[in-house]
Amino acid sequence: MNRTLYDKLIFDCSHPGRRGFDLPSYPYPDALAGLPQHLMRGDAPVLPEVDELTVVRHYTNQSTNNFGVDTGFYPLGSCTMKYNPKLGDAMAASPTVAALHPRQPAATVQGALMIYRTLEYMLAQIGGMEEFTLNPYAGAHGELTGLMVIRAYHIDRGDHGRRRVIVPDSAHGTNPASAAMCGYEVSEVRSLADGTVDLTDLAAKLGDDVAAVMLTNPNTTGTFERGIPEIARMVHECGALLYYDGANLNPMLGVARPGDMGFDVMHVNLHKTFATPHGGGGPGAGPVGVRAGLERFLPNPRVVQLADGTFDVVADSADAMGRISSWLGNYTVYIRALAYILTLGAEGISQVGPLATLNANYVMHRLSDLYELPIPGPCKHEFVFDGLRDKSTGVTTLNVAKRLLDFGFHAPTIYFPLLFHESLMIEPTETESLETLDAFVEVMRAIAREASESPATVKDAPHDTPCRRPDDTEAALHPKVTYKDWCDAAV
Ligand SMILES: *Cc1c(COP(=O)(O)O)cnc(C)c1O
Repeated sequence: MNRTLYDKLIFDCSHPGRRGFDLPSYPYPDALAGLPQHLMRGDAPVLPEVDELTVVRHYTNQSTNNFGVDTGFYPLGSCTMKYNPKLGDAMAASPTVAALHPRQPAATVQGALMIYRTLEYMLAQIGGMEEFTLNPYAGAHGELTGLMVIRAYHIDRGDHGRRRVIVPDSAHGTNPASAAMCGYEVSEVRSLADGTVDLTDLAAKLGDDVAAVMLTNPNTTGTFERGIPEIARMVHECGALLYYDGANLNPMLGVARPGDMGFDVMHVNLHKTFATPHGGGGPGAGPVGVRAGLERFLPNPRVVQLADGTFDVVADSADAMGRISSWLGNYTVYIRALAYILTLGAEGISQVGPLATLNANYVMHRLSDLYELPIPGPCKHEFVFDGLRDKSTGVTTLNVAKRLLDFGFHAPTIYFPLLFHESLMIEPTETESLETLDAFVEVMRAIAREASESPATVKDAPHDTPCRRPDDTEAALHPKVTYKDWCDAAV
C-alpha cells in the first residue's frame, strides 16, 4: 500500500472551501456584543479545510502507524509489556464503576470499598506481606511511599542518624531518584559479573547510618539473587530495612514471595504485572506492602472493615504519614487487577512465574549460538544479550533492533543495563504462544545471517516503517507538537 497519501499532515490535505460540517448559525448574537473588543478575534483561525471522509481516513491510518502489544510481539526487557485481557477494561468501564464519585458517602459505595479491601488482601497474600495500601499512583510513587514508611519507622524508634539508602548499580533509575526525593543520600553497591549483588561490597557500604537497601529480584539482568537470605541478615543486623522493587512481579508469581525472603517493604506495579496497559503516561498504580509491625506507618486514608461487616474510609491513624494521593488512588486500575486475579485464580496465578521463566529460557537457548550471552542461564523472566557473537560485521544492537521493526516485532530494550556495551534485553512474557516465540526466534536468526551476508541491509534498517530513524534525543528535547512548529522547523 502506498501510505504517503495518508501520512500527510491534516493541514496538507486542506483545500479552500472543502468542509465536513454544517454548524447552525449562532443563536445569541447579543451575548457577543457584550464582550470587550480587545478580546475579540480579528481574523478567522487557520484550520484545515477538509471533508469528513478525509478526516476519518487520515486519523484511522495514523492510528495504525503505532505499535502496541495488541498489534504485535513486544519483548521489551525490564518493563513487562505483556497482554492485558480485555475483560479488565470491560469491568473498569462498566457504568457501576464509571458513575462513582469520590465524595460519595461510604454507605453508598460499599461494593467499591469491598473491591478495594479485597485487592489489598490478595496482594498481601501474593507478596507475603502483612498489609498493603493501594494509594500510590505509580511504581516510583510506591518507592517514595515505601521509603517514607521506612523513614517513619526509624524516627519512631528515635533513630535519627540514618541518612543513606543503598541501591545496586543495576537498579532501575527510579530507585536512586526516589531515595533522593525522600531526602536520602544514595550509595551504590557493585554487581558481580553474573549481575548479582557483590556481598563484599555491600558489607563495606552497610553501617548504622543506612536506612534501607533497595533490591530488585530477579535483578535487571533477569538473574535470581540467590544471596537474599544472607543479604537480609546483613541488612537487618545493622538496623536497616530491606526494600523490594516488585514493579515486575510476574516471574515471582507462584514461585516465591518477597515477605518470605525477608523483605520488609515492597511495591508492585499493577500496570505491569496486574493487567493495566502501560506506556503513554498512565493511569497506573504502585501499591505498597509492609511486613507486620509497619502497618501503622502506611499513608492515609485507609479502607477498613468494621465489626458489623460494612466498610468505611478512615484517616485516623496517628502514625500514618498523611495522604500521598487524592482520594484512594486510581480506582479503575484496581478493578482491572482484581478482575485479572479472580479470572486466573490461585492456580492460574501460580503458573504465571513458571511460564514467564520458561518462555524467556526458550528464546535464550534458541538464540545463544548467534547472540553473545554474557550471563549464562538459566534466567528468570528476561535475559540480556551483549549484541551479536560475530562483531566483525560492524552490525550493532541498534541495527538489530531497527531491523526487527521491518518484520513486525517491537525491539527489545537496548543499551540497558549498562553492564554491557551492546545490551539487548529480551522479555517475552508469559502471555506469548510458542508460535509467536518461534517466529521471533526465526527472525532474530535471519537478522544474524543478514548481518554477515549483507550487513548494509541491517545497518540501514528499518526499511518498511512509516517513520525510519527519528532522532530520539531531539524528539524528547524539542518536540514539534503543532503544525506551526513543524512549518517553522521546515523553513
Ligand atoms: C517500571 C519500573 C519502575 C517504575 O515504575 P513507574 O510506574 O514507571 O514509576 C521501578 N522499578 C522497576 C524495576 C521497573 O521496571
